[in-house]
Amino acid sequence: MAHFSDLQLNADILATLARLEYKEPTPIQEQSIPHILAGKDFLGIAQTGTGKTAAFSLPILQKLQEEPGKWNNVLPKALILVPTRELAIQTLANLKQYGKHTALKFLAIFGGVNENPQLRELKKGVDILIATPGRLMDFYFRKQISLKGVRFCVLDEVDRMLDMGFEPNVRKIMGALPKSYQTLLFSATLPKEIEKLVGEFLKDPVTVKVTPPAQTAGTIQQSLFFIPKGQKQEMLEHVLKDSACDRAIVFSRTKFGADRIGRHLRKACIDNCVLHGDKSQKERQKALDHFREGDVRVLVATDVAARGLDVSRITHVINFDLPEEPESYVHRIGRTGRSGCAGEAYSFCDVSEKPLLRAIEKKIQERIPVVSARKFWPDFEPKETHQNSKTGKVTQRSKAGK
Ligand code: AMP
Repeated sequence: MAHFSDLQLNADILATLARLEYKEPTPIQEQSIPHILAGKDFLGIAQTGTGKTAAFSLPILQKLQEEPGKWNNVLPKALILVPTRELAIQTLANLKQYGKHTALKFLAIFGGVNENPQLRELKKGVDILIATPGRLMDFYFRKQISLKGVRFCVLDEVDRMLDMGFEPNVRKIMGALPKSYQTLLFSATLPKEIEKLVGEFLKDPVTVKVTPPAQTAGTIQQSLFFIPKGQKQEMLEHVLKDSACDRAIVFSRTKFGADRIGRHLRKACIDNCVLHGDKSQKERQKALDHFREGDVRVLVATDVAARGLDVSRITHVINFDLPEEPESYVHRIGRTGRSGCAGEAYSFCDVSEKPLLRAIEKKIQERIPVVSARKFWPDFEPKETHQNSKTGKVTQRSKAGK
């Protein structure tokens, strides 16, 4: 078993990790921290849940703490670029924990909120800046921020950043950094565009690939329920009323679908929060806080909104719809079964989604065990859905003719 004390971390950081009850380093931490401390560029193929945030934060904190005279004292010395505000907020929260023993100043800047408080904080001086590309570019082009002092640049969830169209901004930001800095790049996948970025911006990087905990931990029990579209909502209500379902995320493919699921659940007296990209920053934060603090036990979310979300002790992930991208399935179910806790991942699949199911099973290289809906809904009878071609009206008919 590896120990944090073998990774050249200093006593302050070791004490912090002990306080956080991190008993041993995760594989990505074990394989990155000594190299990052030694000044190497790093490429980590890893997703949320692998412990990647500590993998890059701990060595940066240690270097900034140990060599204070080496850095420019007002300008940001480390820049952590992230795709979404949720990830920015979460990374900031992690850094505050990991760097509690230091006097370093951390700030997260992201869009969708008033920029003045962020600008005020920037003026006071920041050591580690977490930023989404859009807001950072705004500030940079208006000369409200200087990147001249940056010595460490972390690009986190780069695949997500490119999916969201941030590549031009990322390139501009990288172009604005001073000549010698250390780059740490993390991505769940390594498509061609990212390989290209790596070739351009990383110098002889140490590369480490870790399998997501979803595939290694074996603590996630996957189940597949064949449910006609028109009966998914009722099935969901049966599942959520099960006493084992303590804290659940329900995934919907669309924002509209997420709102509808949330509305129907409320009608069925199942309290829930809905998280998707059309919600304001304030609404999203409120939803997340309620869910995190356990005020509501059901969060309905779209993929983009839930990416990077770090909420502990999620007992159930429910795929109300199967995702279009097989990769998203892995991300979705990775929300549960964390830190050694067991988790359930239920997927509802209707006839039209069978091609998506096949793509997912190909991706994860296993068959998801099929479970009867009667496990939760004892008198379940599948009903065929008919759509009247003239009126468009959807009606249901029991297969047994009832
Ligand atoms: P991340 O992949 O950075 O989002 O981390 C996922 C979760 O694992 C976070 O809740 C961390 O607090 C937690 N974590 C990170 N490293 C460790 C560790 N070595 N031991 C236990 N938990 C950890």
